[in-house]
Amino acid sequence: MTVTLDFGSPSTKRTLSDLSLAVAKSKKIVVVTGAGISCSSGIPDFRSSDGLYALVKERYPDVVLKGRDLFDASLFRDPTSTAVFYTFIGQLKQSIDAAVPGPTHRFIQLLDAKKKLLRSYTQNIDGFEARAGLLGSASGEAKASGKGKAKIRTKEVKSVQLHGDIHRVRCTSCSAEYPCTEEHVRVFVEGMAPDCPECAQRAEARAARSARAIKVGTLRPAIVLYDEPHPLGDDIGSIQTADLSRKPDMLIIMGTSLKVHGLKKLVKEFARSVHAAAPPSPAKAKSFAGKVVFVNRTPPSSEWAGIIDYHVCGDTDPWVERVIEDWKKMRPADWEIQQTLVATADGDVSMNGNLKVVAANKTKGKNAAKDNKKKPRQDEDGENVPPPPPPVLDAVMSTPEKAPPPTSPGKRRPTNSHYSVESSPSKRRTLSPIKKGLEDSARGLLFSKPDEEMDFDLNDLSMHSPPKPKAVRRSRSRVGRPVGVAAAA
Ligand SMILES: [Zn+2]
Repeated sequence: MTVTLDFGSPSTKRTLSDLSLAVAKSKKIVVVTGAGISCSSGIPDFRSSDGLYALVKERYPDVVLKGRDLFDASLFRDPTSTAVFYTFIGQLKQSIDAAVPGPTHRFIQLLDAKKKLLRSYTQNIDGFEARAGLLGSASGEAKASGKGKAKIRTKEVKSVQLHGDIHRVRCTSCSAEYPCTEEHVRVFVEGMAPDCPECAQRAEARAARSARAIKVGTLRPAIVLYDEPHPLGDDIGSIQTADLSRKPDMLIIMGTSLKVHGLKKLVKEFARSVHAAAPPSPAKAKSFAGKVVFVNRTPPSSEWAGIIDYHVCGDTDPWVERVIEDWKKMRPADWEIQQTLVATADGDVSMNGNLKVVAANKTKGKNAAKDNKKKPRQDEDGENVPPPPPPVLDAVMSTPEKAPPPTSPGKRRPTNSHYSVESSPSKRRTLSPIKKGLEDSARGLLFSKPDEEMDFDLNDLSMHSPPKPKAVRRSRSRVGRPVGVAAAA
């Protein structure tokens, strides 16, 4: 049974908090995302009158193409639909370049920084996870150098890009890959495709020695279309197998309507693995361990009744913001570590084996530190006062332009030591040793905030529309067909 949690309803408040705590306690979270998480990133709605789709229509008034057709491999069989596709992708790439990652992308990066992310799997081609700081499977940096079985560095890859990346191009003939440049985009917008430099070079060399001429391939966006095999399919398969064997303890699905066949399969496999890792007795304190959470505007279909445990009804951004808020309240120690690192970057810290945070209220902090062993923090009148807000952390989350740069490796070393904090009952727990590895949370400093929030649904973009039955049949017969064949026609 899926429990539906509504933000507005007070009856679900407790469960939402429990879910937040579950996130904070989990250690191997698998995140699966779709178009919904990029809604707030300021990409214009291409279906509205002045959006991308309208621009494409303006250029190709007689062409009728639905969202799905724009992303079906069969489009390469027709020169007009190929031109429309290139124009559309060129304009989409320009929009994505002008936008920034949103709160949900930053949340996934935060999970990684706090050593809670096993892997992120996304259907999105916008590459925002990479821009938020997670190494994407489609990126050039993910490619393994030298000889080896795997084509990509599976261990380092944090974001598996199930449908490729709009910021890369690939040759239809020799499969050479390049970053998508502004020049490429200019050609795409005109409805054309640039020549492959690698093929061109080879052709030139052959012509020089009077060898038989070869065909020069063109560069296409390195995104995966419907009915098209993923060029990194084997690598992605091994990543998934490895992740399943590591027994993930939570599955969070965000911003996808779960309609694509391949994604359904992936989610079901992870859900089974997560449920298998759940404690046998749900009455125990860790009753929220091993849960499958689905955050989306629309509810899951009945198909998911035994698979999804909680449906958080709504957009993903408010949910992740709430999780972070609850997490800060319930496990402040997790956040004060980050505060320490920020202070380190500021140079406002003594590093004599023990770290001391010198906060804005220096003297108060010192006085409080002296008698913080037994008593809650008191002000001059002896009244209990709430713990001060975590000033640096808030700065990290909301005003990135003021945040200091990430700490240098040399300065991160003291994270193995203790550090004294201003006293408050809840904060005393922070006197425990700082966990190894959390220095990566310094990457949170790179967080930025979107310039604007727009109501936008990328449904057609991220290949969310339900697969047509005939298309599914077609895909079976075409598995393994080289991508370049149709494209070259
Ligand atoms: Zn080529």
